[in-house]
Amino acid sequence: MPKTYDAIIIGTGQAGPSLAVRLAGKGKKVAVIERKFFGGTCVNTGCIPTKTMVASAYAAHVARRAGDYGVDISGPVTVDMKRVKARKDSISGQSRTAVESWLKGTKNLTVYEGQARFESAREIIVGAERLAAFQIFINVGGRAVVPEMPGIDQVPYLTNSTMMNVDFLPRHLVIVGGSYVGLEFGQMFRRFGSEVTIVEMASRLITREDEDVSATVREILEAEGVRVRLNARCISVSKRGDDIAVGVDCSAGPPEVVGSHLLLAVGRRPNTDDLGLQKAGVEVDKRGYVVVDDQLRSSVPGIWALGDCNGRGAFTHTSYNDYEIVAANLLDGDSRPVSDRIQAYALYVDPPLGRCGWTEAQVLNSGRRALVGKRPMTRVGRAVEKGETKGFMKIVVDGDTKEILGAAILGTGGDEVIHCILDVMYAKAPYTVLQRAMHIHPTVSELVPTILGELQPLVGQETGAGSAA
Ligand SMILES: Cc1cc2nc3c(=O)[nH]c(=O)nc-3n(C[C@H](O)[C@H](O)[C@H](O)COP(=O)(O)OP(=O)(O)OC[C@H]3O[C@@H](n4cnc5c(N)ncnc54)[C@H](O)[C@@H]3O)c2cc1C
Repeated sequence: MPKTYDAIIIGTGQAGPSLAVRLAGKGKKVAVIERKFFGGTCVNTGCIPTKTMVASAYAAHVARRAGDYGVDISGPVTVDMKRVKARKDSISGQSRTAVESWLKGTKNLTVYEGQARFESAREIIVGAERLAAFQIFINVGGRAVVPEMPGIDQVPYLTNSTMMNVDFLPRHLVIVGGSYVGLEFGQMFRRFGSEVTIVEMASRLITREDEDVSATVREILEAEGVRVRLNARCISVSKRGDDIAVGVDCSAGPPEVVGSHLLLAVGRRPNTDDLGLQKAGVEVDKRGYVVVDDQLRSSVPGIWALGDCNGRGAFTHTSYNDYEIVAANLLDGDSRPVSDRIQAYALYVDPPLGRCGWTEAQVLNSGRRALVGKRPMTRVGRAVEKGETKGFMKIVVDGDTKEILGAAILGTGGDEVIHCILDVMYAKAPYTVLQRAMHIHPTVSELVPTILGELQPLVGQETGAGSAA
């Protein structure tokens, strides 16, 4: 006989634990199943550890630039990777322990440790246990893709997960993948002291971003000595003595890059292939993401999917927002759809990129009459004072409705500044509200109203597009 619960939650990522505790708080009998580390990707191999390491890398970078600020540091700046890792482990470990003890200490909630598999639409097997519930929530997250490139089974490689064990300085880290994860690791290890080469198949880095963003991020990385190989077609890998040779077959430059370590950062896939979803009849798309509706219900009534595994977001905040949406719909009588969400995220290179809404290219493709404001960080007082003037700020607004369509803040504080723009978008207020707001001096944010006062027609739309102000 199965053990029966009101709700079963599979995975303790960014949605599952909060939902479990909410349900348990409402008096529901809840089971939570985790097969590995409490807290999932963000806590153990994603956001928290990487941003902790980004902070160590930033400290090294600023120390090397100390002379620019009139500060003398005698002797060379070196990085003790064992201490970098120990700091990372401590911060990440505190979060993991906090999630575990939170769940284990919650009344009405039982934690199971092991791999969960559907036995039917109502039953889950975990180890020797069989559990049943009328509500099942899937929060299984994803993992790094290992691409089927020639030679990959012949060489050792790292992923974002195994990078967490690195407590030494790779002599030359070759990173396959020039997107968010690859760029963060690339700059970080360069600052730690490694040689770094980023190999990217596309003709530019972070291809989802506008070309000016890609180009400026590349300049920032190259100025620090990161090598970037673009247009890498037919990437292959092979052993070269103790090293690893990455065949890049690029249109220009040497045909291979030889490094001491290889990091694969070419994307992620959902953890839905070993969950027995077929037995439950839950539909997945061709990439394995659970197909969900606007309230995150799967194709089977009584089964929901939250977080990275539903393909509706790939961030901690989107997963947590999934929890809020499901909880609002199920427990608060508050009908909230995912489609209300405005895209927002950050790339934690230094300076960071804060993004919300559409890119300029998306706006241009939409055919909407739009205006754009752009300002280099060299013309932002706060950035000049901090000696961090790389990057730019860009905001795009609808020329007719005056709504803000999107923004990219690539510059010091960009991950924070973006929120003043995002919140006005959520408020559905015209950009003029933000343009007239008095912001604090000296901050990066104080230039946001200024940018909105200097909008120009989008390039490609100049004819007939007047000022909307
Ligand atoms: C290197 C890196 C850096 C990142 N940085 C950021 C960042 O700065 N900001 C940001 O917003 N996002 C970042 N992300 C993305 C973020 O980590 C994820 O979007 C977020 O963790 C998604 O969480 P989730 O709730 O979908 O599930 P996850 O956190 O992935 O958790 C899923 C859990 O389910 C468990 N599980 C899986 N299958 C089973 C099963 N069958 N039975 C039992 N348990 C199972 C797993 O063990 C895991 O604990 C980063 C990701 C990476 C890889």
